[in-house]
This record gives sequence, C-alpha cells and structure tokens, in this order.
Amino acid sequence: MQSTSSWDAIVIGAGPAGAVSAFLLGRQGLQVLLVESKRFPRTKACGGCLNPRAITALTSLGLGDTLGGCCGESFDRIRLHHARKCAEVPLPSGMSITRTTFDSALVEAAIAAGAEFVSEAKCQVLPRVDRSSRTIRWSSTNGANFTATAPIVLACDGLGHPSLHELPEFESTIAPNSRIGLGTVIARDGAADSLPHHCITMAVGNSGYVGLAHAENGRVSLAAAISPLVLSSGTSPTTVLQQILHSAGIDQTLIDAIEAVRGTPPITQRANAVAGERLFLVGDAAGYVEPFTGEGMAAAIEGASLAAPLAFEAARQWRPELADHWRRQYARSIRSRQLACRSIAWLVRHPQALRWSLAALAAQPRIGTTIGRWIGRSQIQQEQHTT
Ligand SMILES: Cc1cc2nc3c(=O)[nH]c(=O)nc-3n(C[C@H](O)[C@H](O)[C@H](O)COP(=O)(O)OP(=O)(O)OC[C@H]3O[C@@H](n4cnc5c(N)ncnc54)[C@H](O)[C@@H]3O)c2cc1C
Repeated sequence: MQSTSSWDAIVIGAGPAGAVSAFLLGRQGLQVLLVESKRFPRTKACGGCLNPRAITALTSLGLGDTLGGCCGESFDRIRLHHARKCAEVPLPSGMSITRTTFDSALVEAAIAAGAEFVSEAKCQVLPRVDRSSRTIRWSSTNGANFTATAPIVLACDGLGHPSLHELPEFESTIAPNSRIGLGTVIARDGAADSLPHHCITMAVGNSGYVGLAHAENGRVSLAAAISPLVLSSGTSPTTVLQQILHSAGIDQTLIDAIEAVRGTPPITQRANAVAGERLFLVGDAAGYVEPFTGEGMAAAIEGASLAAPLAFEAARQWRPELADHWRRQYARSIRSRQLACRSIAWLVRHPQALRWSLAALAAQPRIGTTIGRWIGRSQIQQEQHTT
C-alpha cells in the first residue's frame, strides 16, 4: 500500500461491526479500506454465542453461508450454576463459535466483496476534517507511516473506541459498577467432556459470572464478567475464574484446563456521541452493556446493517443530517436492549435473588419453560422493532 491513499469509505476495526460494514459497502461497489490493529486471525475475550437476532441478521444480509462454514455448535438452553445448585432455562436457538473462526470468516467475506484489508495497523482518526474527507493515520510494524482519507469513516473499533482518542467529543462514559471482561478458548482434549452440549453453562459467583459453551471443532469458549475489585486485590484472572467455577460446582478437569486468559477494558460504557462530521460509531465503539445471550454481536451486526446505507450516501455526498439520522437510528434500534437480557443480567449481579430463583426453578420446572418463552418473545419483538 502507498503511504497516502484515498478511498470511498474507511472502516476501523475488523470485529463483527467492522467486517459486516466493509462487506456491505464493498458489495455496493465502494472502494473500502478495512483497517485492524491486531494480526488476524486473532482471539478475543467473548463467549462467541450468537443469538437468533444475530443469526437472522447475518442470513438476511447474505452471510448465511459464511456462518454455516464456521461449523459452530447450536444451543437451545442455559444452565445456571450457583452455590452448587443448578437450574436450566430453555432459550431460543442460537449458535456458539469462537471469535477466532467467526471474525476471520466475516473478514474473508468482506475481502471477497471487494474490501481491502490491512491488519496490524493501529490507527487514529485525525481531528481535522477537510471539505471532502476525513483522514486516518497508522504506523506499520516496521515503523513506516501511512495515512488514508475517505468521505466517510466508520469507527467499529470496540470498547472505548481507541482510534478516536484525539477526538475528545467522542469520549466514553464508564458505568461506575462496570465489570471487566475475561475470556479464553479451551482446546485441551477431554477437558470439556463433562460440559453439556447445546447448552450455555453459566456459573455465578459473588465476584461475577463465567459462561462456557461448546463451539466448533471440539473447542470451548469461556467468557466472564468480573468485578474489577477482585482483580485489583492481586488475584490473577485465571485464579478468579477457577474460584467462581469451583464454588459453582463445575468439573475440576475443565477448571484445570483454563489458560491464556485475555481481558477487556470496563465493559459497561457508552460513547458521549455516536456520530460526527463524516464519522459514525458502530458496535461496541458506540456503547455496550453486559455480555449475555449473544446481545453484543447481534447489536454490532444490526448496527452495521443500519449504518451502511447512511455511509453509502455519505460516500457520495456528505450532509450533516446523515449524522443526525444515525444518532436517531442508533437510539431507536440499538440502545433499546432486550428486557429479558437486562433482567437476567440483574439477577446474576444479585446472588440472593439468584438463590431464590434457582430454588423456585427446582421446585417448579415449568417456570423455566415460561421464562424461555418470554426470552423468545422479547427477542422476536426486538427483531420486529429493528426491521
Ligand atoms: C466477556 C465478554 C463476553 C461476551 N460474550 C458475548 C457472547 O457470547 N455473544 C455476543 O453476542 N456478544 C458477547 N460479548 C460482546 C461482544 O464481544 C461484542 O459486543 C462484539 O465483539 C462487538 O463487536 P464490534 O465489532 O463492535 O467490536 P470488536 O469485536 O471489539 O472489534 C473491534 C476491533 O477493532 C480493533 N481495533 C481496536 N482499536 C483499533 C485501532 N485503533 N485501529 C484499528 N483497529 C482497532 C480490535 O482489535 C477489534 O478487532 C461479550 C463481551 C465480553 C466482554
């Protein structure tokens, strides 16, 4: 690549929001640059569970075959463990895939749609906006400097949107009680034999919760949301995960196989603005609440599909109303999260309430079926709301 280049659209970050945006814009015939700071394929702290909304969105965008090629494992229930008690709740059918496989497949789809992909390029959006473009810059691993310009830039760079650090108006507000995300993939033979298939296993402790699910090729995705206080006391992330799983009664062979744990910044945060001149924030870059039942990736994919038509228009001719349009669209369609997910997230933060709920579920298993139907209904209502 030349040290200075110009494009119709620049997409920063190759997670689901960025890769799907690049795919959609490339398919429309735009010259798209997709820039990613990490070397691909990369791992990511995420449970990798796609809910029905995410699957429906991918399929309707023409990415059904890409999803199918990932060979993920389906799930249709969640098993909650707490204080050696356990209860199961049915869920609308979803799919579990490690982020290494899923994100690489989406990037391949974006490249096939015509996008140019540059990895290991940690870029910054420059504050200055020209009459007809925005500029980003990055340094390659061998120290060479690059700039690229485009009439529209999509910041899809995840929590805290690191590419916008020179633009204070987009700063994020972090929730005071925000947790930290942790994650890894367990691939050791036999380690997960005791873990039920087609099921998200969720172990809840006092300092947070850990989710586990079988994914493609015998791998298991592990992801957790943990109070930063336990980590600041000097306990290692691996030990914190092991303690929660142990206190919930999870099999020791699985616990012993945990290694190479990755962390995230505080997870509950929201950008103070989601649009500016020739700039839209999409996916976690705009804001994120709490990991559960595949809400994050669904929002990232839906966000990309809603932002792409506006970005397409912006690439042709910028109008300030496009930024207002994205702000309204984002507030209406993405920020209104699933009631069911919020309720479960509340439950797993209140162990006493969770203990009562598990006791009620054990006494009356039909309650679980009712809750499962309610989650299903709320996801369908959310789907109808966004289409
Ligand atoms: C512990 C945990 C578990 C989760 N489990 C689930 C789950 O099971 N299901 C679900 O749907 N969601 C889950 N989520 C949420 C999900 O991970 C996110 O919502 C989703 O990844 C958002 O996608 P994105 O494309 O917006 O951002 P990301 O996936 O974070 O992608 C952003 C990309 O931008 C790159 N980047 C960052 N800075 C720069 C830069 N300066 N220049 C270039 N590139 C840059 C990053 O390397 C990254 O590849 C979980 C989150 C956490 C923390």
